[in-house]
Amino acid sequence: MKNFIFLGPPGCGKGTQAEILCLKYNYLKISTGELLRKYSTDDLNLAKTISNILSEGGLVPDEIVAQIITDFYSGIEAVPAVILDGFPRTVNQAILLEQTLALYQMNVDQVFLFNVPDDILVKRITGRFSCSVCGAIYNKFFKQTLVEEKCDKCQSNIFISRSDDSEEIIINRLKTYHASLATLTQFYGDLIVEIDADKPLEIITDQIVSYL
Ligand code: AMP
Repeated sequence: MKNFIFLGPPGCGKGTQAEILCLKYNYLKISTGELLRKYSTDDLNLAKTISNILSEGGLVPDEIVAQIITDFYSGIEAVPAVILDGFPRTVNQAILLEQTLALYQMNVDQVFLFNVPDDILVKRITGRFSCSVCGAIYNKFFKQTLVEEKCDKCQSNIFISRSDDSEEIIINRLKTYHASLATLTQFYGDLIVEIDADKPLEIITDQIVSYL
């Protein structure tokens, strides 16, 4: 079983690409961000701690994410590959991952680094809104509704945006990302493949597939 890391800033589309590849090749994806968002609303002891960190755009302590990864690997069935979306984010986490994979005689096979300029990311994330009735996703900078304030798909006029999508939080999340990027890329060295993720979905998928 192979292990691919998807490394990239928030809003770069790595989660979407991971989902596309999982469907196409029967891979399994683990997204620490998705799981932490879920934990932050569950009635657990850690919920408050996690939701505070998420709302500030910082990093959740390594012990918590490491436990998520350990649980994941101890419970999965054999698949051709696993995609790690959003983990590791620090060198310490990268070392923890190596230790976990070693238990199963595995290692990291490739690290896909998704590059998108920060100003585009800020617009992608802060401009994002969705229809509260059918879930259709729009963006006030890149993809407006055809008719103002009317969903193209279901004609509803009620829209919502995610609570961690504010400009202040996204700028913090980008700072956190850039702060650990250099040491992580140094750690992975030749395993890194750079993806130009400021492109249409299918072109990004083709770039990734060419390295699988
Ligand atoms: P994401 O959806 O991957 O952008 O993650 C959303 C948030 O979850 C991040 O801003 C962090 O607060 C937290 N998070 C996700 N993955 C990790 C990780 N590997 N280590 C620490 N915090 C994480």
